[in-house]
Amino acid sequence: MSKEPGGDDPFRGPPGGAARENPAGSEAVDEEDGWFVCKACGRKIARLADRMADGDGGKRTCANPHGLVFTILLFRAAPGCMTAGAAQSAFTWFPGHCWRVALCAGCLAHLGWRYEGGSLFFGLIEGALRETG
Ligand SMILES: [Zn+2]
Repeated sequence: MSKEPGGDDPFRGPPGGAARENPAGSEAVDEEDGWFVCKACGRKIARLADRMADGDGGKRTCANPHGLVFTILLFRAAPGCMTAGAAQSAFTWFPGHCWRVALCAGCLAHLGWRYEGGSLFFGLIEGALRETG
């Protein structure tokens, strides 16, 4: 019962066989983009092209409640980051936005924070990143 007439119809193909002509697959262009990489392990964290240019050129200097000062760069996306913990609203640097700790997904170095609210973006510590490309 495993075979029936016409079972090898070439127009049917294997399950999922049509997925290879997905026009959304654009991974190849990554090679041409400049990236900010993790200073500790070199993992690609965020594209230069995703840097947000707000009034301050996408860079902020912020102090946390312990008096530590961070210079952070703002990005629309940071595919090399993972987030940890629950969203916090205390001491946020961006009113209306909660934050989560953002870690390097390769070596778990603390790279900055992900902000979520009216918009979603990343604030990554300038000194934890290295620019390439
Ligand atoms: Zn890393």
